[in-house]
Amino acid sequence: MTAQTIWRATVLTLFPEMFPGPLGVSLAGRALASGLWTLEPRDIRDSATDRHRSVDDTPAGGGPGMVLRADILAAAIDATDIAPDRPRLLMSPRGRPLTQPIVAELASGPGPLIVCGRFEGVDERVIEARGLQEVSIGDYVLSGGEIAAMALIDACVRLLPGVMGKQASGEDETFSEGLLEYPQYTRPQEFEGRPIPEILTSGDHAKVAAWRRAQSEALTRARRPDLWIARHGTKNTTDG
Ligand code: SAH
Repeated sequence: MTAQTIWRATVLTLFPEMFPGPLGVSLAGRALASGLWTLEPRDIRDSATDRHRSVDDTPAGGGPGMVLRADILAAAIDATDIAPDRPRLLMSPRGRPLTQPIVAELASGPGPLIVCGRFEGVDERVIEARGLQEVSIGDYVLSGGEIAAMALIDACVRLLPGVMGKQASGEDETFSEGLLEYPQYTRPQEFEGRPIPEILTSGDHAKVAAWRRAQSEALTRARRPDLWIARHGTKNTTDG
């Protein structure tokens, strides 16, 4: 693998000291330390031009809070000099909801530039002018894009070749087939009067696979009918 092909996350933020943060430990941290991916936090404030290094201003039309300036953010993006094939993302509660297929697509590419908003958000014109794709990590509002960016990066990094111990462990987990994962068990054999389901210790691999499949389907129908319908086109209610 050459330097250019290593998956990269370039993060524009007002708080570069937040990185790598949780991305510096465990699976993602070990992969970072061993050079399986690289992280480039960049301080948006370095692109400020006045002597107070200001990056925001009051919203046009009035209202609470402050808005990140288009000219400062555009200069920060341009200063990264990113390759045109790299996705340019803006973490935003208005964005396209992040899903495992999007994560898998991002993980298979060269790695994104990620802009983290703060305050009330960013000036709309920089989103248009720099072709930023807005991505949301859920229907709730964070105080900044950094934690959202970390969630996205973490989800991508664990899919990179060589990061997860067993390549297979990414293949039959939650969302990989539009299904939630089956219940997992490990020792002890009995916990507070609850044994591990007998079938799992039977040694019959075909039966184990069928049991897991049935559990996955039942869980998905009960908890996430939206996922079930997306996969099967109709809500099957025969067993409640
Ligand atoms: N006023 C804005 C919210 C700003 S929150 C609105 O109503 O849409 C400040 C910043 O936090 C945002 O610019 C974005 O970068 C980040 N953020 C907040 N919630 C997020 C979410 N659910 N997903 C991704 N980023 C989010």
